Amino acid sequence: AAKERGKGRHAVYDAELEQHQAADAQLGAELRQALDRGEFSLVYQPIVRLPDGKWTGVETLVRWTSPTRGFVGPDKFIPIAERTGLIVPLGDWILRTALRQAMAWVQQFGDDAPHEIGVNVSARQLREPGYAETVRDALAESGFDPERLVVEVTETAVFDGGVALDALQMLVTLGVKVALDDFGTGHSSLGLLRTCPADTLKVDKSFVDGIGGRSEEAVIATAMIQITNGLHLQAIAEGVETAEQADTLHRLGYRFAQGYHFSRPLSAQQLGDRLTESMLAQATLTTR
Ligand code: C2E
Ligand code: MG
Ligand code: MG
Ligand code: MG
Repeated sequence: AAKERGKGRHAVYDAELEQHQAADAQLGAELRQALDRGEFSLVYQPIVRLPDGKWTGVETLVRWTSPTRGFVGPDKFIPIAERTGLIVPLGDWILRTALRQAMAWVQQFGDDAPHEIGVNVSARQLREPGYAETVRDALAESGFDPERLVVEVTETAVFDGGVALDALQMLVTLGVKVALDDFGTGHSSLGLLRTCPADTLKVDKSFVDGIGGRSEEAVIATAMIQITNGLHLQAIAEGVETAEQADTLHRLGYRFAQGYHFSRPLSAQQLGDRLTESMLAQATLTTR
């Protein structure tokens, strides 16, 4: 009887799995259409210097507003885009759009434009033959300085092995910077820091969340800043939501941060408006 019940459970499980797969396939099909129909957009979240909060760069984040589903977060659709391979053309669109926008800011705001622009890149993209050439062409087309582009990859992507590392190495040859995203959450190996050509570690929000007091997270965050300093890497603390967290991070030695405390991700229009405002404010100060 137990065996029968076991079988029954398997049947239920299989049915659920099939339902999930069907739902994913449906979403995958909608995503492909979404790219053709122009339903994706980009937002840009400022990265700031501590303690004064001056903007040093922005991270590009993709958004999808589906006519039927409404807003769908990247945590839901990026994994599906990765599985279906859509991330390759989608990632290409993201990179080109971000670079075109970054160049427009340089033309409009000069030295006040965000200095660096970060773009998230999936392992699936790095493994695509000729990926570095795609990036080189997109850079050339935009006219944006390669040294101001930061490719954000997760540890898992790099851990993935040789091909991804080779692609990263080629990007570095172009002058592009590499940031290890969500650092500390994946199958981290500190040895990775020797093989991966990263300039920057983005310390994951989960460590920043618990940073108050003598928490384990604070101990880890402290160790991470020591490692980055020792290896001449930069550290950016992710997901900073309060002034207390920003203060603590600064005290621990962090020089860069990102999070709702400083700014939510902004549309290109909103970011341009903010830059215009701060330029006007500066002009008023200096003419006084
Ligand atoms: P990520 O690259 O680690 O991006 C940071 C995420 O944290 C973003 O979520 C951002 O909106 C969010 N965030 C920033 N500050 C705060 C904060 O103070 N509090 C909280 N609670 N959250 C904060 P988002 O935009 O939903 O993106 C989620 C993930 O989806 C990204 O994590 C990245 O892995 C992926 N993703 C987003 N855009 C792209 C893209 O263009 N390409 C690829 N391949 N992946 C992307
Ligand atoms: Mg990122
Ligand atoms: Mg991140
Ligand atoms: Mg993260």
